[in-house]
This record gives sequence, structure tokens and C-alpha cells, in this order.
Amino acid sequence: MAAESSRAPQRAREIMAGASAVTALTGAGISTASGIPDFRGPQGVWTNNPAAARMFDIEAYLADPDLRAQAWRSRSEHPAWRARPNDGHRALVDLERQGRLRALVTQNIDELHQSAGSGLQAPVLEVHGSLKRAVCLSCGWRGTMEAVLARVAAGEADPPCEVCGGILKSDTVSFGQSLDRQLLRESARAAAECDVLLAVGTSLQVNPVAGLVPLAHEAGAEVVIVNAEPTPFDAIAGAVVRGQIEQVLPELVAA
Ligand code: NAD
Repeated sequence: MAAESSRAPQRAREIMAGASAVTALTGAGISTASGIPDFRGPQGVWTNNPAAARMFDIEAYLADPDLRAQAWRSRSEHPAWRARPNDGHRALVDLERQGRLRALVTQNIDELHQSAGSGLQAPVLEVHGSLKRAVCLSCGWRGTMEAVLARVAAGEADPPCEVCGGILKSDTVSFGQSLDRQLLRESARAAAECDVLLAVGTSLQVNPVAGLVPLAHEAGAEVVIVNAEPTPFDAIAGAVVRGQIEQVLPELVAA
């Protein structure tokens, strides 16, 4: 059962101190201290502007050129382009260097884990893709987002694929799109094979990724949740920590 929040840090430290194969599952909350707002937190993009969620619906994106133009503007101005990793990202690099990270499954699309230095000994599994790549929804062409944004800056409101004329999009998973099956399989294996599933900065409201938490639990792993707000899986966690990730995570990893 979840520990009382006042006692959670100690229990969380104990669990982390005994961990030898951690699968970390991160969400937007680990990047808010780097200046990238989350979606559902108190200052979240959708909390402040529910209409913005439409840009992340694949049917609406395909049907509406104005929405696509809005999405390209939003990608150009995305804070991820100037964001730097924070102590939360760096703590997971330390865990990897200690040889205790089995895998880092991230729902984030900002590549800040890789900027911090993650991914050298344990895989970073970007289950929701990356903002820094573009993809053609017709022919599957992939390229850098920077190259497409240069076309937007040069005046193309909704640049088409240069190979087939199809609709381009960031290489991220929108509502209505499937996740990469291979990445999902690898993530499920990492959840099933870890001794601690460490969920950080995610509201755990989006499946199938949220399902990795009960999967790990049922396979015998301890679950540690670090998040400012409650999640649907707090009750199965061995410890729940409500503090700020960038302060809590370095402590947990040092343990
Ligand atoms: P979410 O917005 O649903 O939940 C984030 C959670 O983090 C919230 O519960 C919030 O209270 C908590 N939080 C925020 N800052 C925190 C902090 N400093 N310390 C502790 N807790 C903090 O995010 P989600 O579960 O990742 O789902 C949103 C989806 O949107 C993701 O799948 C992702 O693809 C995308 N997204 C990505 C980014 C990014 O790449 N940085 C940003 C926004 C959204």
C-alpha cells in the first residue's frame, strides 16, 4: 500500500537503495523545471487551454489545414528548442552510471534525457516519439524537424512532404495513432524484468504506457511514484513521493 506522504521519502529511499534493476518511466513533469509545461498539471497546457488538445488529435490534424498551420507555429515556438536538462534528468543519468538502470521509458518528446547523457548503457525508449523528428503521414519519410521548420520560417504555413506531397507532422504519437509496437514490447519487457518501477512526473492517465505500472507490480517489482499530484496507481505503490522531482530524484538516487 502507498506510504503516508510524510513517511514516503524514507520508504522510497529504502526501496531505491535496494534496487539493482530500475525501469524508470518519465512524463512531462520531469521537464517542467526545464521550462517545458506539462499537459495536465496546474499550469499545464491543456489545463490553461483545453482547446489546445485538438492539435494532438490525428483526425482533426488530417482534416484541418488551419489546425496544421497552428501546430507548425506551435512546434516552431516550442520551449524544447531552448530547454536544458535539470537535476531530475541528471539523477537518472547517475542511476545509469551506477549500473542500476534497466531502461528509461519516456513519454516525453523533448530529448532532454539524451541531452543530459542518458542512453549510453541503458536504452531510452521514446514511446511517444520526438518533436525533433518529422514524419510524412503518407509515405513514411522521416527527417529532422529543424529542416521542416526552416520551410515554415520561410513562409510555408503547412509544408507538404517533398517526396510525395503528403501531410507532414512531428514524429510523435497523437491521440488516435498507435504506438510503435517494437518500442512497446521492449518497454513491457523492461517493466516485467525490473525490481523497481520508478514512475516520475506522469499523471499515468494515458494507456498503454500507464499500464506498465501494474504490469511491473504484478511481475513482482516495487513501484515508486514521484509526482506532485495523485495518480491512479498510488494504491499499488510501495512509496509515493509528492515533492518536486528535481529535488527528490537526486536524493533517491544517491541513496
Ligand atoms: P501530464 O501533464 O499528464 O502529467 C504530468 C504530471 O507531472 C502532473 O501530475 C504534475 O502534477 C506533475 N508534475 C509537474 N511538474 C512536476 C514537478 N516539478 N515535480 C513533481 N511533479 C510534477 O504528463 P504525462 O503523464 O507525461 O502525459 C502527457 C503527454 O504529453 C506525454 O505522453 C507526452 O507525450 C506529452 N508531453 C510531453 C512533454 C515533454 O516532452 N516535456 C510536455 C508536455 C506533454
